[in-house]
Amino acid sequence: MHAEGFLVVLSGPSGAGKNTVMNAIFSSIPNLVYSVSVTTRAPRDGEREGIDYFFRTPEDFSQMVERGELIEWAQFCGNYYGTPRFFVEDMISQGKIVIMDIETLGAAQIRKKMPEAVLVFLLPPSWNDLKHRLLSRAQDSQEVIAERLEKSFEEINKMAEYDYFIINDDLENAAEQLRTIIKAEMSRVSRIKLDEFRTLWQGGKSDNE
Ligand code: ADP
Ligand code: 5GP
Repeated sequence: MHAEGFLVVLSGPSGAGKNTVMNAIFSSIPNLVYSVSVTTRAPRDGEREGIDYFFRTPEDFSQMVERGELIEWAQFCGNYYGTPRFFVEDMISQGKIVIMDIETLGAAQIRKKMPEAVLVFLLPPSWNDLKHRLLSRAQDSQEVIAERLEKSFEEINKMAEYDYFIINDDLENAAEQLRTIIKAEMSRVSRIKLDEFRTLWQGGKSDNE
């Protein structure tokens, strides 16, 4: 192993397609792992504990914050969300690429703490498409959908803080773009442990042999 692991942050309005696009790329990047967040939101139909989220009470969540167990956390539309620190640090030390789906305040905290992270912003082709996607996902109440649509204006203003943007029009194109970004970032020279790489590459031969 001679490459450092790194973090990919995926943000974008709720309903942009972050989960859908992410799920489309796991099979083609074997080193990619998903960071499961903690939330105080109630599970949607079909969501599974420890796979989609760790569902916790507000009391448990604030204890995790106090104990420093979250790398970042934020409030979003009345619920708390945060990223468990141990998993991310452990995976990165093993050379894995960790992808996380988090909103813009959390992404800004990651940018400060881990400047080498790659920040990607995903958005639907238009606000109207976003509305249709949230309605067709049919998982949230009318009030929750209205609140998320309103929130999308604020979130799009944060796009300038990201490294890349992807417009999720056609799913396969959007997935291909995300795959390409991650693969390019894997080839960034600054992520290579140069001494280990050179030793391997030289096959044990010394510099002046
Ligand atoms: P997010 O994780 O960003 O909240 P989801 O992945 O849950 O969004 O997607 C929201 C809805 O939009 C889902 O019903 C999903 O099937 C749909 N969707 C995702 N990508 C596309 C796309 N490219 N074209 C049409 N519908 C899409
Ligand atoms: P949802 O309730 O639709 O699953 O997520 C709502 C928002 O919370 C989305 O924008 C999602 O990216 C964000 N989110 C999910 N997990 C985290 C997290 O661990 N930290 C932060 N800051 N945001 C998160």
